[in-house]
This record gives sequence, structure tokens and C-alpha cells, in this order.
Amino acid sequence: MTNKRLNCIYCNFNSVILYKIINNYKVYYCRNCDLRFTLNAAYKSRSFNKTYYSNNYLNNFINREDILAKRFIKHINLIDRKTKGGKILDVGCGTGLFLDLVDQTSTNKWKLYGVEINKLMCSYAKKKTKAFIYHGSLNSLYFPSNSFDCITCFDVLEHIHDLKSILDEIKRILKKDGLLVIQAPNSNSIMAYICGDFWDWWSVPDHIYHFTYKSLKRLIENFNFSINLIYTWDDNIDFINNILGLIKSKLNKSLLISKAIRMLIKIIFYVVKPLLGLLKKLFNIGGLTVIYAQNK
Ligand SMILES: [Zn+2]
Repeated sequence: MTNKRLNCIYCNFNSVILYKIINNYKVYYCRNCDLRFTLNAAYKSRSFNKTYYSNNYLNNFINREDILAKRFIKHINLIDRKTKGGKILDVGCGTGLFLDLVDQTSTNKWKLYGVEINKLMCSYAKKKTKAFIYHGSLNSLYFPSNSFDCITCFDVLEHIHDLKSILDEIKRILKKDGLLVIQAPNSNSIMAYICGDFWDWWSVPDHIYHFTYKSLKRLIENFNFSINLIYTWDDNIDFINNILGLIKSKLNKSLLISKAIRMLIKIIFYVVKPLLGLLKKLFNIGGLTVIYAQNK
């Protein structure tokens, strides 16, 4: 049923239907622009920032640095093949891990820039990396036009309420033929399907947009970028943890999953992994969508 009072927060059309309710937050789907979104009136309030951008938020990232580093190194190898170096900007640079790894491992020569809205992470990144780290939202920093040879946004766009402004800004400050790299959760993934409401990356109300492979592709193409690589994928650890989270929620929240059950799930996962891999390739249903696109 079309919601008479609600317009899409992206395209402003009155073509929105209720898609799901997760933890009392309504997830809507816009039939005009194909985006799924959660209304989050508190997205820029202080209490929201306090809750979501706390020490815990920072520590979660620090604890996952080994896992994230492996992912980033794959991206750096690809970026090296598709660019000749220059200026690189990581939007939502978090702890600065990606920029630090670019500095340490890239075969190209880069001047490093990072933007981070979370103050704690920003301070951490400033200490940890050689990059120029800026605190704030990208749109508030007014970088000169055609500044960057590469802009990366890992797990960022789903947090941004004003998607149009940030993509316009990225387009403006990225050089012509510059490379844009995006990663965002895929709400049409097999993981989201299996876990349903317990899928980790609904992450409401922190995640405002819930992209799919199709909707993210369409969004980037609408901003006149030329996509030269797009794929979906899953990190095995994330996949297993999502399934464990689902089982925990179905059993008893206070019940700890025993080592034996965890091991059993791992074994089942590795047995069905080749089949999952094939399905993900055929139907683009991995948990994360990655896009490499050039600025036209
Ligand atoms: Zn829309």
C-alpha cells in the first residue's frame, strides 16, 4: 500500500511503501528510485552521535583491524592497477587504517587525505597515519574542484541522509576519469535473506539506506559515473557471525553458543560454501556490493 503522507527521502516522490519493520524502525521502499531507507529523525542529534560514535564504536573498529586490513589490501592492489597515483581521499576514513595501508603497501605514489565525522576516530586517525585528516562531513570541507585521482567510500553511503549532496560533491572534487570506489551492504543478499530481521547490517537507525546490488548500481550510474567493476561478496567470518547471531536470537538471548555448535556451523558453512559462491556470482547476492567507477 502506498504511504500517502511519506515522500522518498532521496527522490521526494510519493511512491513509498512500507517494506519491513526492524527493531521498531520502519524500512521503506521507493518504487520510483528503487531505494530502501529508514527514517531516522535523530540522525544528526547529539544523543545519536553520543550513542553511535562512542568509544565502543571506535574499539569495534580497532578490534577488527586484522580482518579489515586483508580486505583493504585487495582493494589497494586493484586501485594500483586502475590508477597512476596522485591524491587519494578516503571518505569516512574511520581509524585511518585504509590510508595507512595505502602508505605502506601501494606501488603508486599517493598524497593521502581522509574525512571522518566521528571525532574520536578522527583523533585516532590523525595520530596513526601520515594522511591529512579532516574532521567533519565531506560537504562542509569545500575541497577545490577536480582535486582527487581516487576517492574511496567503504561502508559509508548507507549512513548518509543526504545522498544527493555527497555524491554531487564527490563528483565535483574527483578529477575527470578519476576512480571512485564504493562498498555498501547488500540488503538483497543471501545473508539478509537467511537472517531476515536479524541480519547484522540492517543496523537501524545507524544505516539509513539499505542498498541492493541493483539500486546501488543505478544510483552511481545516475550520477554519470562509468562503472568498470561491480561485484558482491561475503567475508566468511561475517557470514558465520550473522548465522550465529540468528541462532542465538532464536534460542535464548542469554544463552551462549557453545564451541561445539560454533564448530558445527563452520563445518556446514565450508561444505556449502562452493554452492553459495556460485549463487552469489550468478545472482549478485553477496552481503556487500563493491563498485569501481570512473568519473565521466
Ligand atoms: Zn525514491
